[in-house]
Amino acid sequence: MNSAKRTKRWMLIPMVVALLGSVTAFAVGDAQEAQRPDMTRVIERLSKPVLQHAPIKEVYWREEQVNEGENFTTFLNRLGVSNKEVQNLLAQKSFSPELVRLRAHQMVSIQGDNDGGLNAIQFFSDDEDGEKTLLALEKVDNQWQASATEVDTVTMPTLRAVNVVTSARGALAQAKVPVEIREAISEMFGDKFVLDDLKEGDTVRVLYESHYFRGQEISAGNILAVEVGKDGRLFQAYYFDHGDNTGAYYDHRGKSITKGFENKPIQTAARVSSAFGMRFHPILKTYRMHTGMDYAVPTGTPIVAPSDGVVSFVGTKGGYGQTVMLSHRKGMETLYAHMSKFEPGISNGKSVKAGQVIGYVGTTGRSTGPHLHYEVRINGQMVDPSTVALPVRTLSNSELAAFKGRVNSAEEKIATIRGLPVMVAQLH
Ligand SMILES: [Zn+2]
Repeated sequence: MNSAKRTKRWMLIPMVVALLGSVTAFAVGDAQEAQRPDMTRVIERLSKPVLQHAPIKEVYWREEQVNEGENFTTFLNRLGVSNKEVQNLLAQKSFSPELVRLRAHQMVSIQGDNDGGLNAIQFFSDDEDGEKTLLALEKVDNQWQASATEVDTVTMPTLRAVNVVTSARGALAQAKVPVEIREAISEMFGDKFVLDDLKEGDTVRVLYESHYFRGQEISAGNILAVEVGKDGRLFQAYYFDHGDNTGAYYDHRGKSITKGFENKPIQTAARVSSAFGMRFHPILKTYRMHTGMDYAVPTGTPIVAPSDGVVSFVGTKGGYGQTVMLSHRKGMETLYAHMSKFEPGISNGKSVKAGQVIGYVGTTGRSTGPHLHYEVRINGQMVDPSTVALPVRTLSNSELAAFKGRVNSAEEKIATIRGLPVMVAQLH
């Protein structure tokens, strides 16, 4: 990447941050042009308010990729952090080796300043146990320290709209819609159309929650509403929180938009003890992304395949403990962690039918008590299992009334950009 390009990207990020809290829309000319926003024009239009608020020492967030073969120490060394500084940091009691594990090609957010200094670093550490931990570090009085506090986070709805020219996925990626949101959209409409079949003239508008930490978007939350215009037809989906740590997508009348899976992985009445998504850990003072949903059930409870599939993994998988993975229709995989034992005959490559027992609940791996951690990946992206991989839940009359309220609220937000050639809007 040349330095001119990098400067442009650095300039855009603080502008977006500076404008959070008000409705801002980045108009980018005609509908055709919405595919390729003219960065120069956007910068010119927005530069004035930023200059008014610019601090004397300017700071910029940027993304840095971890190279093949690098670990936490060598990665930081490359950015100019000395060995001694890294050792001082790792000596602090809140740091465990698992917490600072970096994967090759992982993106790390770096906050630098115009003097070439490094102020803050943040990334999600993933040690394969059903949680990703946000590690946020900052340099205070020349000393690196952990910096997560609850007040530093904010969750806001983000609205993004694209007009398809060649590919819906490409257009959404260009509009900076996170990959997990793109995969979730593709999956939720999977029974109606294939996202990749959208063509020129079709549209996608999506309203979703974004989690910001210290002004930096760290992860996406729930999709609240999506509407897809395809061949002159409008497909809509709205999220409804069932209030029991699960939620699902319904059309504007409250009918489920997916056919759903045939079964739950646990056949007995089981409480969902932990939902998919971001949470703050009050003792460790850090954010964790729970990558699946947990059923609180006793050791030995049978776990069944919720839908037909093929066994793609049986064995021990790091902090997940004894784990089975099944692959279902194109690109979709389910994972069952912390099992006490596998069902005899469950082996790699074997086909399983919906309802067939695959193993038994336990507490193997990194786990504090017996439970099933149920995870769903679509093309490798973790999505909320309750929205795509459970049986359809019909809304009761009282739920339907509450749902209508959500639809109206989402509609109001989407209406603010419907028909406009707009790429992105931050709503407050
Ligand atoms: Zn879990």
